[in-house]
Amino acid sequence: MRNLKNHLKIKLDLKKLILFLAISATIVTFLNSFYSSYQVQKQQLQSQTLKSQSAYAAKLSLATERFLHATQQQLAYSANIIANNFDNKAIYQQEVERLRLQTDSFNSTVVVEAQGVVLEVSPASLQLKDTKLESFGAIQARTIQKPMISDPYISAANNLIIFISHPLFSSTGEYLGYVGGAIYLKEESILHSLLQTHFHQDGSYSYVVDKNRRLLYHPDKSRVGEQVYNNKVIESVLNGESGTQHVTNSKGVDVLAGYAPLNSAKWGVITQRPLEKTLEPLEGLMVNVLYRTLPIGFATFIFIWLLARIIAHPLRGLAETADELDSPEASKQLKQIHSWYFESAELRKAMLKGVGILQNRIFELRHEAQTDPLTGLHNRRSLDSILDQLVDSGTPFAVLALDIDFFKRVNDEFGHDIGDSVLQSLAKVIMNVTRASDFVVRTGGEEFIVISPNASSRTAYVLAERLRTGVAKTLMPPVGHINISVGISGWPIHGKAIGEILKSADKALYEAKNTGRNRCVLDPEYGYVDKAIVA
Ligand code: GH3
Ligand code: MG
Ligand code: MG
Repeated sequence: MRNLKNHLKIKLDLKKLILFLAISATIVTFLNSFYSSYQVQKQQLQSQTLKSQSAYAAKLSLATERFLHATQQQLAYSANIIANNFDNKAIYQQEVERLRLQTDSFNSTVVVEAQGVVLEVSPASLQLKDTKLESFGAIQARTIQKPMISDPYISAANNLIIFISHPLFSSTGEYLGYVGGAIYLKEESILHSLLQTHFHQDGSYSYVVDKNRRLLYHPDKSRVGEQVYNNKVIESVLNGESGTQHVTNSKGVDVLAGYAPLNSAKWGVITQRPLEKTLEPLEGLMVNVLYRTLPIGFATFIFIWLLARIIAHPLRGLAETADELDSPEASKQLKQIHSWYFESAELRKAMLKGVGILQNRIFELRHEAQTDPLTGLHNRRSLDSILDQLVDSGTPFAVLALDIDFFKRVNDEFGHDIGDSVLQSLAKVIMNVTRASDFVVRTGGEEFIVISPNASSRTAYVLAERLRTGVAKTLMPPVGHINISVGISGWPIHGKAIGEILKSADKALYEAKNTGRNRCVLDPEYGYVDKAIVA
């Protein structure tokens, strides 16, 4: 039975539940803070990168713009000198050299006359002198006859170039030709140095497109000259916009791009950084966050757990006591429980009240079980425990066996109910005559036993006589007067068990009946009393 009870016992208790709550709350809070700081850091890294990319793009665009402006000024200056000395070969020979070598702006420089024939070229190794230039840039320069920057094209010397030129006019306004410089897009040029200086170890790189979406500069030289379509960033920058975008590049890599247009040449400068590179520091940052959050998370957990224990403690105590509310210790146990908060205090109050009611009821039931309902005296069952207690504690006592004389007649004459009320009146008389320490027992119909602890045989006899005379004197309407006979014995009598003592008292009673009734007879083994002296 006990096993079954244990088996059925629910394994979960409040402490475990709260512990579970504490753990899950801590974990959820921890994960949430970890996740949100991850998101915040990520966003911050991205927005910082986007900002710096667009700042780089703007800066590069400005630097390139200044460079182009400077080259055009240089050409304009030389054009002026050459036009003024058009018949002096040595001058423009000197100028093309100076243009190329002094400023480093151009990979090659030329002076071309109005029909397109090269008058001078630097470096001479290109061997273009006296040839007629029919390349795209050359024709464009001759046709437009204005300062210009060409679109990229393949030059006469088979280089991918952009050509920057300035027309030559005589003092009378006659078109004499042009002076120009080429920038080789696929080789080291000032444009490369300009843009490359901004190449960063952090994975950022920049590139430049012309208005036809052709790459003028790209860190991967093999891509220079390639036309790029379906690129949102290029579309935006060629629309004259500057800004930032998060896009997937032509190689399928997520990049954060900044861009700025270069208005004079209708080019676009784009700088970008792979997202992966941008987010590289995130791992370190998150490890940092972890180190910072863990101790507080752990402390929070310990705190909740301790609090949980303190909260669960009184309920646990109440639950344990609830199991044995019928024990006499229950209310003492309940009082010891420290119910420090409202609910537990109310539960304890209610349980204490319940225990009081329960124990009163138990007391009542026990009392009822040991009480004769007609007279309220002890009953036979109670007699046994009274005798056990006295014998156990070694307390000597007298036993008085009482029986009403001719009670049958009372019943016959007045009826059973009147008989019962006579029994009740008799019980009252006996209770009045005996001491508080005496036990009065109704053992059967109209038979009673009085146990008088510590009474001598003489005291017992005196008590029996007082009972007999007390009853005889008492008027019990409508019956009138009744008499009783009493047999007296007591404990201890050497060699006699308690059962035999009771029989001896009965025997003495029997003798009292046989010798005329309405008298007291003492068991001779218990003692002898000189009736004359006692009376
Ligand atoms: P005696 O004892 O003097 O020999 O005569 P008695 O008439 O009292 O005889 P006995 O003790 O043998 O009779 C007991 C009678 O008591 C029998 C019954 O009518 C009556 N009696 C027993 N128990 C009760 C009871 O609970 N109520 C009432 N009213 N009468 C009872
Ligand atoms: Mg009898
Ligand atoms: Mg009788």
